[in-house]
Amino acid sequence: MSDKPINQMPLFISPRQSSLISVIPRKHATPAGKPCGALEVCVLGSGSGGNSTVIRLGETALLIDAGFGPRATDKRLAEAGLSLASLRGICLTHLDQDHFRPNWPNTLLKFGLPIYVHVSHYADLMRIPGGAELRDAGLAHSYNSLPFEPMPGVTASTVRLQHDREGTIGYRLDTHAGSIGYATDLGHAPPALIQHLAGVDLLCIESNYDPDMTLASPRPIWINRRNMSDSGHLSNEQSYQAVRMISDASPTGLPRDVVLLHRSSQCNHPAKIHEAFARDPHLAKRITLTEQRTRTRWLGVHPSAVVDAT
Ligand SMILES: [Zn+2]
Repeated sequence: MSDKPINQMPLFISPRQSSLISVIPRKHATPAGKPCGALEVCVLGSGSGGNSTVIRLGETALLIDAGFGPRATDKRLAEAGLSLASLRGICLTHLDQDHFRPNWPNTLLKFGLPIYVHVSHYADLMRIPGGAELRDAGLAHSYNSLPFEPMPGVTASTVRLQHDREGTIGYRLDTHAGSIGYATDLGHAPPALIQHLAGVDLLCIESNYDPDMTLASPRPIWINRRNMSDSGHLSNEQSYQAVRMISDASPTGLPRDVVLLHRSSQCNHPAKIHEAFARDPHLAKRITLTEQRTRTRWLGVHPSAVVDAT
């Protein structure tokens, strides 16, 4: 475990700590004196070849996952009008190479860029070349179930999800300018995740595979079994059901935008995703598909008038 305590806020009540709370009261999500500015999201790329999403709040920015190397990330950030120097931190869902390339430490040290991992992933971070140097420079931070502040004005609260041996982390980011949910590489969507992400303005969630395409693919059977297990990935149907449940647990109209991550190039097709979500026209018109090789446009997060009125 890190001996570098991160800026945790124990007085903030996490939905994970209290099953009675399904939506973080907005008054708790707006720490006084924090910087103002619009909240925006841009998925730099998503898929088994790499995942990285940039969250911008005013003049500052944060990455969720760094599944492209520093050079490729800088290039994609430049296309989005940012650079590595714009970043204030990187939050990881887990340490598979499509979510964290192990060639980041030198760049993190050069820019003094902190990285945040769940305490259960900290040992894995220390095992990569340069992990100990990050720790010694005070840049390797671990969090537990308590919310923390990875960037001024952003409160991150997390939920642990099942994926392979060490699991993955779902994030909820609350700011004065709206909230974002982020969940990828999860074998299934447990009730704790639905509660955790209920009420977010923008939801990013994976829609990884179509079962028929998976079974017809030339992939080894053991890979298919792993991907389709409770510790693998969400199918289009599972993704749709999770979004429906989160929407049903949210104030009317939320989440306003749904960004679908990590589409398999071999076992999925955009038409299959649209087909799954077409059953609910209200949700179907809110979805944005992501790509492996190209970034999305900047998606503005606008707090709902319904939520603001509460
Ligand atoms: Zn992945």
